[in-house]
Amino acid sequence: MFRIGQEEIDACRRVIESKNLFKINGGVQEVHMFEEELKAKVGTDYAICMTSGKAALISALIGMGIGPGDEVIVPAYTYIATAIAVTAVGAIPVIAEIDETLTLDPDDVEKKISKHTKAIIPVHIQGFPCNLDKLTAIAKKHGLYLLEDACQSDGGKYHGKYLGTIGDAGAYSFNYFKVITAGEGGALVTNNRPIFERGLIYHDSSAIAYFGNQLETVESEQFCGTEFRVSEFTGAILREQLKKLDSIIDDLHKNRAYLKDKLSGRFNFIKSNDFDGDCATTLALWFDTADEAIAYQKHIGGGTRPIETGKHVYSNWTPIMQKHGAFHPAFDPFKMEANQGLNMNYAPDMCPKCLEYLSRAVYIGVDPNMNETQLDDFAKFLLK
Ligand SMILES: *Cc1c(COP(=O)(O)O)cnc(C)c1O
Repeated sequence: MFRIGQEEIDACRRVIESKNLFKINGGVQEVHMFEEELKAKVGTDYAICMTSGKAALISALIGMGIGPGDEVIVPAYTYIATAIAVTAVGAIPVIAEIDETLTLDPDDVEKKISKHTKAIIPVHIQGFPCNLDKLTAIAKKHGLYLLEDACQSDGGKYHGKYLGTIGDAGAYSFNYFKVITAGEGGALVTNNRPIFERGLIYHDSSAIAYFGNQLETVESEQFCGTEFRVSEFTGAILREQLKKLDSIIDDLHKNRAYLKDKLSGRFNFIKSNDFDGDCATTLALWFDTADEAIAYQKHIGGGTRPIETGKHVYSNWTPIMQKHGAFHPAFDPFKMEANQGLNMNYAPDMCPKCLEYLSRAVYIGVDPNMNETQLDDFAKFLLK
């Protein structure tokens, strides 16, 4: 959460005064308006606002027709939700290495493709753009879907295009820890009509059939889905947050550039696939050894080593590593007949490059709200 205040208070007041807290029928239609404004901003044909980023990933996978019998490639370094979105649709996550940019390694992705693979999920972790040129080419060559997990990269770009809009579909998160937020929230964006229609049906399978006019132009067959609908509060807050997105990203870039300039004599930085396009929420320092990274972190008594951030590293994805894909055994993708013979040989040391790279990185969080004096003090602290 970077910036929230009077505008969001006014937006919530607007919703309460309208007495229309439900997204469908009447009122301002805040959620609908947010979807329109998000589409216009990022330049996709369709957007569906929902309860979370993970809900958007799951709805996209459903929209792609992915399920039991399918493998989906995910990076070894991502929040566990990416992998669980795959098991949620009954498919098997296949874990691939990261490269020196700390994002999905296209070479390892190619090695992990099998006759069962249906999709690749590149994750723009910390707002660092993946190598989408290579990943798009690989997906095309093998006839696979590309689903961008842009949950940590709201507002980020790759070669001038918004992250989340380059693959067949993209997922944004608006939970408390993301670039813009409504506490919780997410969105699926796509230019693919069938993915949109099935995502729409899946995310709101009960209400959509009975309320409003969302289904009027939908051609896809109806099926039973789930309930990822949000209230007008979420829509109203996100409309205000979206207006702030550019200035948040601009100030993050300004402040990261200032810090980087001060620190560049002493440190190396992590390579990027698009340094100008990334979200600049993080200045990532790069050390020759893990010992040096640990020593520096101790020395400043701050910073974060990504290897230690809990459920972001595959070896800590306990339910995946232990293959507990669901409470009910018949719903557990790891036990399903259709998935036997698929690649689910997980081991804590299966992606050594990921563990090695992450052990040598230290993240310095960038605050878009710091002024020059505060940045100077911060740089002094980091250089001590
Ligand atoms: C936050 C996050 C998600 C899930 O987003 P929620 O809104 O919390 O469901 C998925 N993938 C990544 C990489 C994330 O950081």
